[in-house]
Amino acid sequence: MTHRSDTSYTIADGHLSCDLLVVGGGVVGLWIARLAMQAGLEALVLERRRVGSGASGGLLGALMPHMPERWNPKKQFQFEALSSLGNEVEKLEDEAGMTCGYRRCGRLLPLTRAHHAGLAAERSADVGTVWHPSETGFSWQVLDAPYKDAWPDPAAMPHGLVHETLAARISPRRYLAALRKTIGSRIIEDEAFERFDRETGTVVTSSGRTIRAGHTVIAAGTGSFEILGTMLSQEPSGFGSAVKGQAALLKADIGDELPLVFVDGLYVVPHEDGRVAVGSTSETKFDDAAKTDGQLDRLIERAGDLCPALRGAVVLERWAGLRPKAIGRDPMIGIVPGTRNLSVATGGFKITFGIAHKMAASALEVALNGHCGGLPESFRIDTHLTKAGSKAG
Ligand SMILES: Cc1cc2nc3c(=O)[nH]c(=O)nc-3n(C[C@H](O)[C@H](O)[C@H](O)COP(=O)(O)OP(=O)(O)OC[C@H]3O[C@@H](n4cnc5c(N)ncnc54)[C@H](O)[C@@H]3O)c2cc1C
Repeated sequence: MTHRSDTSYTIADGHLSCDLLVVGGGVVGLWIARLAMQAGLEALVLERRRVGSGASGGLLGALMPHMPERWNPKKQFQFEALSSLGNEVEKLEDEAGMTCGYRRCGRLLPLTRAHHAGLAAERSADVGTVWHPSETGFSWQVLDAPYKDAWPDPAAMPHGLVHETLAARISPRRYLAALRKTIGSRIIEDEAFERFDRETGTVVTSSGRTIRAGHTVIAAGTGSFEILGTMLSQEPSGFGSAVKGQAALLKADIGDELPLVFVDGLYVVPHEDGRVAVGSTSETKFDDAAKTDGQLDRLIERAGDLCPALRGAVVLERWAGLRPKAIGRDPMIGIVPGTRNLSVATGGFKITFGIAHKMAASALEVALNGHCGGLPESFRIDTHLTKAGSKAG
């Protein structure tokens, strides 16, 4: 793969050519393109609709750490990603000249059952080992009263409350807009990846043109599983699935400094400008991926019970989208079997926003070197496919 210092893609004989083609204009694809350009590569993003028209164009933006027990390489990967994201966002904001609504707001975890109190205390001890509090400043504290004026309602925390300070939040749409701005004109929208010619290493798009790329990364969210299925003549479900989620944006002037609250699948995420995001459902069966329904109404109602300041708040927007969940549940990154210059980076599922920049760095390493040494075993495409094969067998 050639490194070039010029910054625009080349058009020769009506064909586009570039060093790195990224398929998909979501948070993962945009980060890959950004890092590739920083490394001096000519990058191009191919997006079948518009940037952010997939799961990344949503509302919630919770950046929630994994629990500290049973620590493993996947949890360490996310911890490093969450620890470094604030600096990365700051650099991005400076470059783009716009803000992303990022704040390390922390998280409150109401303890709803008796055994949660013991578990929270054990986790507090685990945090001492794996979050390195004396160096990082991240803490995990068990409280017996709300963090602040019924945030959350005392009735919602019968066995206390955990307050941890590693979690953060970001505005998904502002984050995407900033990423887009730094990538500039190297995004082609309303044009889809149709097929990959293994002989020539070229991509044919929905408009019939070919793109010659030194390397192509499929970062097409749930669309990645369809692309892999077609290329490898298998059902897309052999690579991953789409899990629908619904969320809402409420108007509530509660201040934007409050920690997000998470309990039993319900997220309440205070953002800037008197906006609070509430989510999210996890649906494996659905008729219409983009439709919101009574399940979201119930979440909004639960949010009001959990945080009374949200009762009766005006609903500014309701939104639904599809999360990419790879077959092995963890992110899926690596060279597509049977190819040399085609790889995939998807499957961030519920935690993509906190790790996209680190997923992208790994994907770029794969594109440049064929592998990425620091990638957790469970993220590697071959691990996913072996797991899927053994499940099938
Ligand atoms: C309701 C809900 C709430 C969520 N909340 C959070 C949260 O709080 N925190 C968090 O971290 N994550 C959250 N997620 C998950 C997160 O949004 C996703 O995991 C993430 O956005 C996936 O990013 P991506 O770039 O992999 O895919 P996407 O954002 O889906 O981007 C893929 C892009 O590829 C394009 N594409 C597809 N096929 C093709 C093709 N053939 N050719 C060209 N382009 C193609 C699509 O149009 C799309 O724009 C939530 C998801 C939902 C649905």
